[in-house]
Amino acid sequence: MDTQERKKQESLTRRETMRVELESYSHNEQLARVVVAAYMTRLNPTVEETEDVKTAVSEAVTNAIIHGYGESGETLILRVSSFQDELQVEVEDHGVGIPDVEQARQPLYTTSTEGERSGMGFIFMETFMDQVEVRSAPGSGTLVIMKKRIGA
Ligand code: ATP
Ligand code: MG
Repeated sequence: MDTQERKKQESLTRRETMRVELESYSHNEQLARVVVAAYMTRLNPTVEETEDVKTAVSEAVTNAIIHGYGESGETLILRVSSFQDELQVEVEDHGVGIPDVEQARQPLYTTSTEGERSGMGFIFMETFMDQVEVRSAPGSGTLVIMKKRIGA
């Protein structure tokens, strides 16, 4: 193992967090996907693993932008970290919050009245990640924490 490779291996044994602030406009969903995909290259993911994570990130970020902030441009925070082979992505908004998280996580549950949302966002996050935790309170915002082992 050369020095560079050894440094890379060592870096995987400590948690290192990338924090990105995005304004809540819908075009930034694409940026969030790309940023997370770029971070996770250090874990040598398969194409499928990268696609899975990008899909989950899209859903969480879209929710923060649309539901949390109503596309008002307020700041959402994306934190990406890894420890050994586990990737962790957090999406945090300080928007309206979710009154009943358990209900919101049910398939087909949506508060959207315009018919353009299917109520499947949380289900996609759960499908494509190993673990999804949602902390939310009305008036103070929402934090979604998602974890996935890469190369498992
Ligand atoms: P889809 O994701 O299929 O387009 P959806 O966004 O309505 O539809 P989910 O992503 O599963 O479905 O979210 C379910 C509901 O949870 C939303 O309709 C919304 O009421 C609430 N919700 C989710 N994320 C947030 C958030 N960050 N802030 C406030 N409410 C949220
Ligand atoms: Mg959604």
